[in-house]
This record gives sequence, structure tokens and C-alpha cells, in this order.
Amino acid sequence: MAVERTHDILIYGTGLAGLRAAVEIARKSEGKVDIGLVSKVQLMRAHSGCAEGGTAGVLYPEEGDSFDLHAWDTVKGSDFLADQDVIYRFVRQCPEEILLLDHWGIPWSRDEDGKIQQRPFGGHSYPRATMAADKTGFMEMQTLYDTLIKWKNFTRYDEIFATGFLMDGDRFAGMTAIDAFSGELLAIRAKALIIASGGAGAIYAFTTYSHTVTGDGLVHALRTGLIPLEDMEFIQFHPTGLIPSGILMTEGCRGEGGYLRNSEGDRFLEKYAPEKMELAPRDIISRSEITEILEGRGIEDEASGLGHVWLDLTHLGAEKINKRLPLIREVCMGFLGIDPITNQIPVRPVGHYSMGGVEADINGRTRVENIWAAGEVACHSLHGANRLGTNSTAECLVWGGFTGQEALGYVQNGAALVPLPEEQVKAEEERIYEDLMKRDGDENPYELRRELRTAITKHMGVYRTGELMTEGLNKVKELKERFARIHLKDPGRFYNTNLFHVLELENLIELAEVMLVGGLAREESRGAHSRRDFTDRDDENFLKHTLVWKKDDELELDYKPATITHWKPVERKY
Ligand SMILES: Cc1cc2nc3c(=O)[nH]c(=O)nc-3n(C[C@H](O)[C@H](O)[C@H](O)COP(=O)(O)OP(=O)(O)OC[C@H]3O[C@@H](n4cnc5c(N)ncnc54)[C@H](O)[C@@H]3O)c2cc1C
Repeated sequence: MAVERTHDILIYGTGLAGLRAAVEIARKSEGKVDIGLVSKVQLMRAHSGCAEGGTAGVLYPEEGDSFDLHAWDTVKGSDFLADQDVIYRFVRQCPEEILLLDHWGIPWSRDEDGKIQQRPFGGHSYPRATMAADKTGFMEMQTLYDTLIKWKNFTRYDEIFATGFLMDGDRFAGMTAIDAFSGELLAIRAKALIIASGGAGAIYAFTTYSHTVTGDGLVHALRTGLIPLEDMEFIQFHPTGLIPSGILMTEGCRGEGGYLRNSEGDRFLEKYAPEKMELAPRDIISRSEITEILEGRGIEDEASGLGHVWLDLTHLGAEKINKRLPLIREVCMGFLGIDPITNQIPVRPVGHYSMGGVEADINGRTRVENIWAAGEVACHSLHGANRLGTNSTAECLVWGGFTGQEALGYVQNGAALVPLPEEQVKAEEERIYEDLMKRDGDENPYELRRELRTAITKHMGVYRTGELMTEGLNKVKELKERFARIHLKDPGRFYNTNLFHVLELENLIELAEVMLVGGLAREESRGAHSRRDFTDRDDENFLKHTLVWKKDDELELDYKPATITHWKPVERKY
């Protein structure tokens, strides 16, 4: 029988969003509210620790930046799909988050006078990327955790793999999770849940994301049947993934003045984004790179067969590279044996960020009264069809704070624990230990995972067509059938990572279907969703958010309008 645990508030994920929410609850309740923090990896190993380039925020309005400018950049970046009321709430909160981290001790990069520095970033019309060299996410994570441990009232569930939510009617009752060490199933009850489980970047074969970013929380929310996933067809390709691994070369490289060149040595963005050049938004640069490669002006990497362009930092000089981009230099030297001070870096578009996610309102609340969502897993409609760099870490901090406050208010207003739905716990135990673990078919789950990631990379890439996506959907359906015939090699309970990989695979297959269904139905090109068969943006029919529900095991499509409060859509040029 599952081991029962109880907390006031359960936080699912310990990246920037989860830790920021935990700090908010701890400090506002002076450590009195009991928090559970669940992570399938060791707490500090959340993908947030990999964020490099920076966090957006208007720090110097007296020098020319403003909330209106940050808001407008984000609206335009989103190709007008983002909700403008949400954007305003966001931009007003970002500076406070940056200063809070400052008070909590983060080593922000500073100029000689001690002033916090900000650098330019793609799609932002003012330098507002606040950074800790090129290790921003890591420093933010450290600072938040150091702050959290001032209070004692939290329990870490490290290496505990969440498998689903327990619902009492339309309310959250608890979560089922496997303890990697003991192999036991836990039923962790709480009065409120904050989902902060990150994105789904590992669904691509060529990706900047850690292998663990498999969208588990997205699928768990979807499976309740009460919460839809929103705008999942919009996946960001980052223009500078290192060949052949996909490791991110931060946009900070271009923020510091780096160039992109084709095989002829030309800065090809002159043709595509003459004003913004290398600092145009990511969707536009990624398409430009693919076009250069397809038209024969790319370079082929012999070992991997991948076409690429060059990221050129050689004119920046050793001092700047060592001070502002030390990690980039270290990675290039360690992985490719090249030094960016003297060599160009081979890069191409790489699967990166999920603009969509668990539908949540402006406060981060979902349609279930005691479930909130924050960070990359959530879709508050902040990024619309394309996110601007540095707006994500900022989003994690902002909605980590908001959802922490909200969940705390809910609990302090006398919310009670919901009874544990015993039959659901039992059903989950059977599903995991009797069904999945005992499957002994002829399909290798690792082969299925490889095929799925390759298919998504091909069928849900930078450019799409109806035909490509239909083929992709057929492939995903085939993989779903084959999944029923998998076999697990590890029959044991102790650290059964084989089982975790199978659970992740199941989630990835489900998400792939959601992405493709949404993408096929959106017969237009907007932001990161670029179709060769519908090349124009269609505001008349598609200025709306896609919602995908799961009802009776079937996906259902639905839509809701985008909120336009300030700017009507116009042509998007850079
Ligand atoms: C290489 C890289 C560089 C980036 N650079 C920047 C940048 O400079 N600026 C910027 O704004 N954005 C950047 N981004 C994007 C940004 O870092 C992420 O969107 C953000 O950090 C996500 O944070 P999160 O808290 O939502 O989730 P994550 O940090 O991904 O954390 C997810 C948490 O959920 C837990 N979890 C997931 N599934 C389960 C499960 N089944 N059971 C238990 N726990 C689970 C994980 O263990 C983890 O603790 C970058 C992304 C990458 C990959």
C-alpha cells in the first residue's frame, strides 16, 4: 500500500518557478505553512540551472527604457497572440524580482561603479537582460535556495518521480510519486498544488534541453480532464545550438555583438531583418538560417551530416569573451576543441522552449480551484506565438511569486485537506507495478523514444506543412500502439530508471499528439508556427489560443480569444 504524506502546499518542481514559489510561501507565512517540494532529480539539478543569458526587467527608466517598451517588444515578439493584460502585469513585476534577488545576494554582473549591468537581447529594443555573466540561471537557483533554507518548514522530495494527480471530483487531493531509492509509491496529499515542472524540450532529438525535461506535469494536468493545454503547437527554435550536441550558445553571444555568417562569410541577416540583424527574434533568425542552408549557403558538418552556419565572436576580443561569456568559451573548447576567441562556432536552429503549457489565468490559477501553474509548464499567454529571450526566467520568478502568494492565501483562508481517493491510489499502483513493470513485449522503449524524437524534429520543425504534420501524427499513433508492447528490462524496485524512462516516454507520446493536433488545425503562419502551405498570418480566423482537452481518452480541440488591450495587430517587421 502506498506511503501517505501530507503538506499544506505541494510544489511540483524545483526549478526557478518552484523555488521562487517556495520562498514566497515561506517568507510571507514566516515559515508557518508546511511545504513539500518534489523533484525527479536532485533539487538543484532542475533545467533552470542551465539558463545562461539573462533575465528581463526595466531597471533604468530614467535612461530611456520603460514598461511600455518592454510590453510592446513582448507583444510584437509574440506575433500579437500574447494576452496584453498579462504582459503589462509581467513587465511591472520584473524589476522587483531582479531587485529581490539582489537583496538576497545574487552576484549580478556590474559595471565599475557597481551598477547592475544589462545587455541587449533579441527582439528587445533596449538592453534589459540582467545577468550573472553567462551563468544566470545557476546563480538564481543558488540564491533562491540559500534564501529558502532560512526557514525550516519544507520537505525535500529529491529523486521522487511524480506519476499523476489524485482528484476528489473537481478538486486536487494529492499526487502519486515513486521514491527512486525505495521504489515505493507515495501518495502525497496537500491542500493546494503548484505545478512548476518545466517544459518538454527533450521531445526533440536536437535540443538544448536536459534529458529530464519531458513534460510530465503537462500530461498529468491534461489527464485530469479538467485542465486544457494551451498553444502547444508553438515551439521555439533557438538559432544557435552547437553542432553536433545541441548545447546552447546563449543569445548573449549576439547580445555582446556576435555575428552570424553563411558559408560565403556574409552576415546574411541583412536580407531578412536589416534593422535588428542578429538581434531579431528567434523565430525569424531560425527561419533565415534554415533558408540559407537549404539554398546552399550553409556548411555541412561531416561527422553529423548536419547543415550549419557560423557564429562569429572573433572580433569581440579575449577580454570581453572571458568576462561576459566564460561558459561559452569553456563549452566550445571542451566539446569541440575550438577557441571562440580565434575560431567561428558551428551552429544551427535547435529545439528549445515551449511557449504553450497548462492553461492558467493571469494569477497562475488553473480551472481547478486548488491547482496553480508557474514557469515553463504554464501558459499564462505571456509569450503567444514566440517568446523573447530572457522573458522566461523572468516569468518563472514573477509567477513563482504570484502563485506562491495565491496558494498561501487559499490555505490561510481555511482550505481543508481533501479526502484521499484510495481507489485512485490503488489503480495507480496496479498501473505501475502490475501493468507497466510487467510488460514483456517485443518493443524496446529506448528505440521508441529515439523514433519519437526524430519524428518530432522532422514533422514539427522550423517549417511545417499539413502533409508533414499528418505524417507525424500517423507516426505518433503507430508509436502509441507499439508502446502497448514494450518490455522493461529492470524488474527491480531500487533506482529503476528504466521504469522512469518508460513513464517519460508515455508522456512524450501523449504530448506529441497534442502538439501535432494543434499545429494541423492552425492553418496560418504565426511566430514559431511557420507553415509552407499557409504562409500568412490570419488574424481573422486565428487570433486565438488553441486549447486541447483530454476527454474520455480522446483529444478535443477548443479555442479562446487573445486579449488585446493596447495594440491591434500590425505587420511584424524587424
Ligand atoms: C540551456 C538553456 C538556457 C536557457 N537560457 C535562458 C535565459 O538565459 N533566459 C531565460 O529567460 N530563459 C532561458 N532558458 C529557458 C528557461 O531557463 C526555462 O524556461 C526555465 O528555467 C524553466 O524553469 P521551470 O522552473 O519552469 O522548470 P525547470 O527548471 O525545468 O524545473 C522543472 C522541475 O520539475 C521537476 N519535474 C519534472 N517532471 C517531474 C516528475 N515527473 N516528477 C518529479 N519532478 C519532476 C524537475 O525535477 C525540476 O525540478 C534556457 C533554457 C535552456 C534549456
